[in-house]
Amino acid sequence: MSERIRLQPLKEAARITQMLDLVLGADRFDRAPVDVIGLALEYSRQVAPDSPIHEVVERNIPGCVGALVYGEARPRQWAIMYHAGQSDGRRSFTVGHEFAHYVLHRQLIEEDGRYDGGIYCDENAVVRRDGSGIEQDADEFAAALLMPFHDFRRQLPAKARADFEALGRLAKRYGVSLTATILRWLEYTETRAIMVVSNEGFAHWAKPSKAALRSQKRKHATRSQAGRCPRQRSPSSGS
Ligand SMILES: [Zn+2]
Repeated sequence: MSERIRLQPLKEAARITQMLDLVLGADRFDRAPVDVIGLALEYSRQVAPDSPIHEVVERNIPGCVGALVYGEARPRQWAIMYHAGQSDGRRSFTVGHEFAHYVLHRQLIEEDGRYDGGIYCDENAVVRRDGSGIEQDADEFAAALLMPFHDFRRQLPAKARADFEALGRLAKRYGVSLTATILRWLEYTETRAIMVVSNEGFAHWAKPSKAALRSQKRKHATRSQAGRCPRQRSPSSGS
């Protein structure tokens, strides 16, 4: 991977966020979430008129939630695809993630032989935000673009406890899923919290806040000092 062309996700997201604040007003989220599809089409035409994203379309791409693909013709024409059947909120983050690949990685994706015709992204990378490398870049960009901290922190201060009602309200404000909203909140909350995603009683995956992680580490350290092996614990919720 070429480091020299690797752009910083947060810096790029902040640049676009500032531009949107300027054009639409800093209170724009009181009116509507980021129109990420419109933004991807318009922004790509501005920055790369010969090689824009020419469509954002729903497709059946089994095993993937989204993709950024290019055609045979040169200069390249790009398209964002999102897997069929996603809720509006899920789709918004997926498109944000693929838009990030366009902004940050399109040159790499075109030049690197590992990406044949484009990049395909799975649920682990996009929904759980658990990818690495350029997948992580794309998640950071999408989260920062759709849920900028300057607004999020005002709505829900770091020390404030959150309940499903407050988080649900914010999911609506940003036009994303409840999962994406909670993952964003866990990035900065100073409360001890952990999200457990389960299905029919089985926990699939979990993500703690930094404060919860710190107190968990302290607990383990105390147990180790006492000469006991820390046992595997099942996720639980805290305040
Ligand atoms: Zn991706």
